[in-house]
Amino acid sequence: MSLGIVHLVGAGPGDPGLMTARSLELITRADAILYDRLIPAGSLAGAREDCELVYVGKAPGSVAMAQEQIDARLVELARAGKRVVRLKGGDPFVFGRGGEEAAALDAADVRFEVVPGVTAGVAAPAYAGIPVTHRDAASAVAFVTGHEDPEKPETAIDWPALAAFPGTLVFYMGVKNLPKIVERLIATGRPAEEPAAVVAQGTLPTQRAVRAPLSELSARVAEADVGPPAVTVVGEVAGLDLTWLEQRPLHGRTIAVTRARAQASELARRLRDLGAEVVETPAIRIVPKPPPIALAEIESYPLVCLTSPNGAELLLEGLAAHGKDARSLAGATLAAIGPGTAAALGERGLRPDVVPPRSIAESLVESLEDLEVDGRRVLVARAEEARDVLPDALRERGAEVDVVALYETVAEPLGEEERAALARATDVTFTASSTVRFLMQALDGELPPGPRVVSIGPVTSATAREHGLAVGVEATRHDLDGLVEALLR
Ligand code: SAH
Repeated sequence: MSLGIVHLVGAGPGDPGLMTARSLELITRADAILYDRLIPAGSLAGAREDCELVYVGKAPGSVAMAQEQIDARLVELARAGKRVVRLKGGDPFVFGRGGEEAAALDAADVRFEVVPGVTAGVAAPAYAGIPVTHRDAASAVAFVTGHEDPEKPETAIDWPALAAFPGTLVFYMGVKNLPKIVERLIATGRPAEEPAAVVAQGTLPTQRAVRAPLSELSARVAEADVGPPAVTVVGEVAGLDLTWLEQRPLHGRTIAVTRARAQASELARRLRDLGAEVVETPAIRIVPKPPPIALAEIESYPLVCLTSPNGAELLLEGLAAHGKDARSLAGATLAAIGPGTAAALGERGLRPDVVPPRSIAESLVESLEDLEVDGRRVLVARAEEARDVLPDALRERGAEVDVVALYETVAEPLGEEERAALARATDVTFTASSTVRFLMQALDGELPPGPRVVSIGPVTSATAREHGLAVGVEATRHDLDGLVEALLR
């Protein structure tokens, strides 16, 4: 029997956080992924470098790949022994043609498994504060396709039965036909004043909901200029207003994160958790340098200072390149600027002895005041270009300081998409001087008007001002917590 298998996987309605653990796991292991249009942004990020990615979605009005072709491709790949993920928006068996694909695989004797997903008909209303069932308001819910023209005589939908249905109706794919759907429901007996809602772009930062009595829904949706993808909810539950999305503290804000892509995720995650739309507009990239020679004699430094999480990671990699490990730091006093740096060391089994209260070099200089450094060797491991506050202060106190560059930051070119994102952002965050410099360079010295400049601390703010930026707000704590707090101000 071939090891080939097809997983029919639901990717959820759009919010990447609503992808199942199983879907993410299968994506990381797949040899090939055939995916649709309505899958969450970034959902393929975990795929293997050598994974074959095939877009088979249909843009409205055009056909990218016919269904028979998709079926044939799935069969072919699985027969070649591949692990195939067929990734669909929402749930694969809810208006996703997953049933047809499963039947085709079954007929071809190809192994398949189904991974359900969070379906838009439940999730979009939920994000708009509408429970599709409710003890007092709806004991049943029906999922209905709105794709069919209700005026066609051969319609497969029993409209009188839907009108009489004792519960919530949820229409998928119904934006275009909305006026006809509404008309038909009322004509067959649904009350004209029954609460209804259309939720577009559900679960996405661009979500919009329109609520109105059934008879007014089409006009209000047209007025609000709301388009697909959207679900329409008809029923008493649509009259409940349990909105929560809009209450999140950063709802409606579009925040640009300029740090290197590899470093952006933690900040991005926190901001999204607070309801912001996050756009990554990285200005820099971290490029590791060859392991410094000084690391070969690391035991000769009684004091080792690290200034960034990257440094912590690369220090240990550098030691490994010299055949050493964390034990070679056993005798040293370890100093780290910033809780992120301390955490990065902690992940590698090292607990820094000194972490200054403020995440800047000046604060570390103060924290090291009582340490005897006269005539002793100190290693400062950091980025190639950095301020010399720390080495200068230590040298003044008689230390023999070696500064080694573990990495350099280089410019990351800005794409069209990122420029557009910056232009519509409400805030742009800077976590270091280097990101200010490189971003302004990439923008030829002109930040689009609009976004408020949010800086992690005085050094970054000074650089921003040097580049002609007005700093809107500066963090009082110079770390990610502080930056998030500043954004909330
Ligand atoms: N299998 C999918 C549905 C595919 S049909 C699922 O289970 O969700 C496509 C329809 O799904 C769209 O026309 C729209 O009605 C709905 N839909 C998909 N994503 C949506 C979203 N983010 N918000 C609202 N409706 C959505």
